[in-house]
Amino acid sequence: MASARPGAPDELRSLQEFGNSARFLYGEDNLTDPAEAARWLIAHELVPRGFTLDEQELARLVRFRETLRDHLDGAEVTAALNEFAAAAVAGPRWSPDGPGLRPTGEGADDLIARLLDALFRAEITGQVRRLKPCKAPECRWLFYDRSPAGNSVWCTMEICGARHKMRAYRSRH
Ligand SMILES: [Zn+2]
Repeated sequence: MASARPGAPDELRSLQEFGNSARFLYGEDNLTDPAEAARWLIAHELVPRGFTLDEQELARLVRFRETLRDHLDGAEVTAALNEFAAAAVAGPRWSPDGPGLRPTGEGADDLIARLLDALFRAEITGQVRRLKPCKAPECRWLFYDRSPAGNSVWCTMEICGARHKMRAYRSRH
């Protein structure tokens, strides 16, 4: 199972859950149909009850998910991230809960703003470094690396690590 590792700490939970709305290794994607995607997001407590999506918002969420994954993988996607931030985030605001990035709107943009807020905080604390997409291009599952050195690259050694070893073995012979 790709989920054999324990989940990320609370501060990163929403990013990990959202990022893992697709299990590419198993050909599964929970963000393909607006009504089903809304149900999935509600069930995972990423959005409030009664949340709905249209096709356009769904496409934006999927684009955001893959931008997020690319970013966590170290790819240079700051222009795309800033585009999402410009559309969804009103800038830093203070509330009784403390400071944070606030959403400009509702629906998909509200979710994107809350995820960007979590990402922003995690980058400032450095915690984000342990939230990584699996290096297997066919997997890209987001895992939280609890290894002491923080140098894990596969979601699981049993699946993606083993596949990689097999590929490396084949290419050597
Ligand atoms: Zn993997």
